Amino acid sequence: MVNPEHTAQIWSILEQVPDPEIPIINLVELGVIREVEILNDQNDLKITITPTYTGCPAKKLFEDLILEKLHENGYPKVEIISKLNPAWTTEWLSEKTKEKLMKEGISPPTIGDRIVQCPLCKSENTKMVSAFGSTPCQSLYTCNECKEPFNYFKCH
Ligand SMILES: [Zn+2]
Repeated sequence: MVNPEHTAQIWSILEQVPDPEIPIINLVELGVIREVEILNDQNDLKITITPTYTGCPAKKLFEDLILEKLHENGYPKVEIISKLNPAWTTEWLSEKTKEKLMKEGISPPTIGDRIVQCPLCKSENTKMVSAFGSTPCQSLYTCNECKEPFNYFKCH
């Protein structure tokens, strides 16, 4: 019954939904959207998401953005399920997504936040200036080499 091309089409619609915190990447790249299911011939959808972290203020926003985008594209009935297990981790970001972040001057997350690389000169000689950067999911860092400030996408 399920047409894989149709499912792929829905994924590509979802790729148009930007991350509200870091709009240069979308919710699919962020790893928030886990599953897409077409429930019947009326194109009712079930979307499974894993919010970036429990209590992330963006959770409600993610849902609203997903609904809005699907409604615009002719899918009026969409059910969104939040799946918290396994928990989202920054490891779900693909290498391509990490490169994209680096190009935008945002240092991508590293396991345990141990090595934070400067997105400008690639130095690992950096220090945290503030636990909160331009959004709650980022910290403000400064590079000891090139002296430039940058945002670090925190590991959750
Ligand atoms: Zn630097």
